[in-house]
Amino acid sequence: MARAWADISLEAVGANVRALCERVAPASVCAVVKADGYGHGAVPVARAALGAGATWLAVAQVPEATALRAGGIVAPVLLLSEPRPDEVDEALAARVDVTLHTDSLIAAVGRAAADRPDGSPPVQVHLKVDTGMHRVGAAPADMVALARQVLAHPELDLRAVWTHCAVADEPTRPETAMQLERYEACLTDLAAAGITVPLRHVANSAAALLHPASRYDLVRCGIAIYGIAPAPSLAVGLPLAPVVRLATEVSFVKPVAQGEGISYGHRFHTERDTVIATLPIGYADGVFRRLGELGQEVLIGGRRYPMVGAVTMDQIMVDVGPHAEVRAGDEAVLLGTQGDEQISPEDWAVRLGTISYEVVCAIGARVERRHLSS
Ligand SMILES: *Cc1c(COP(=O)(O)O)cnc(C)c1O
Repeated sequence: MARAWADISLEAVGANVRALCERVAPASVCAVVKADGYGHGAVPVARAALGAGATWLAVAQVPEATALRAGGIVAPVLLLSEPRPDEVDEALAARVDVTLHTDSLIAAVGRAAADRPDGSPPVQVHLKVDTGMHRVGAAPADMVALARQVLAHPELDLRAVWTHCAVADEPTRPETAMQLERYEACLTDLAAAGITVPLRHVANSAAALLHPASRYDLVRCGIAIYGIAPAPSLAVGLPLAPVVRLATEVSFVKPVAQGEGISYGHRFHTERDTVIATLPIGYADGVFRRLGELGQEVLIGGRRYPMVGAVTMDQIMVDVGPHAEVRAGDEAVLLGTQGDEQISPEDWAVRLGTISYEVVCAIGARVERRHLSS
C-alpha cells in the first residue's frame, strides 16, 4: 500500500458535471483535464465527465491528448495551445482539435494534414483570438486573414473561434464585458468577410457560472468539475461536490518534552510536554513547506491537530497533544473529510495566499490516486 493516497470521487465529478450541464444549457460542457486532470487523473476524470454529459475534453499539451487516446477516449479533444512544430504530427495522430493563432503554425498544420493518407478526415481548427488576457492568441485585427489562411487549406476545417477570460473570477470588474465586446466585434468582422464560425467558446468555470453572456456554444470548465470554486469563498450559485481526499497513515508517535525543537531549523518549540505524531507525506507529495509554520491542521480520529515545524520532503510532524489517543497506523486526512471535520483545498489556498488550482495540481506523483466510482 502507498504511504499516501488521494481518493478521487468520480461520483462527485459526475455530479459536478451534471450540475454544470444543467446550468449552462443549451451550451455544452468541455471538461478541462490538462495537467493530469488538475492532479486527479486525466483518463478516469475524462470518462466520468463524459458519462455525466460533457461532450468535449480539453488539454494543454500534445502528450496529454495522446494519453487520453491511449486510454481509449474517442470524444473530441481540444488542444488549448498551439502545438510546437515538432509535435504537429503527434497532434494529428491523436486527432485533436487544434488551437492555432499564428500563420506559421497554420502553414505547418496544413502541410502535415496534406501529408496524411488520402481519405483522412479534415483537421479541425479553433482559431484563438486574444481579447485581453495577453497570454497567447492573435490580435483581433489579424483574425480575418488567419481564417482565410485556414480556409485555403482543403485539409483544414475552421470549426471554432475562441478566446479566454482574464478576470472572470472577480465578478465586479469590467474587463470581462470588455473582452466579450472585443470577441463579438471579431465575430462580426468574420461574418462581414463571409466566414462562418460554427462553434464559439469563451468561458472557463468562473465565466460559465458568473457571466451567462460568455457561455456561447461551449464552456471550458476545469476547476468546477473538481468541486472547487474558482476563487476562495466565491459564491458560484452551484453546489460543487468535493472530489479529492488526501490521506496517509500515522507512521510514528512519541512523547516530546517541553522546550524541544521540532524539524529542520527548529523553528517550532514545544510549549508543553506533548505527543508528536509523524506522517509519511511531505512537500514532494504536495504538502507545501510553509503549511508547517502556518500551523495548518490535519484530521486524525475526526479531530483537528496542527502541523508543527517545517514540512520536510517526505514527512511532517503533528502535535496531537499530551493526552491524545493517536497510534501509528491511524488514518490522517490532509484534504477532505474525516468524521464531522473537513479541510478543503481552499483552506490551504487561503493560508498560503495562493489559489486552489495550485494546491490540487501540486499533489505529487508518489501519492497513489484511487478512483472511486461510488
Ligand atoms: C485551464 C483553462 C480553462 C479551465 O479553467 P478553469 O478556471 O479551471 O475552469 C479554460 N480555458 C483555458 C484556455 C484554460 O487554459
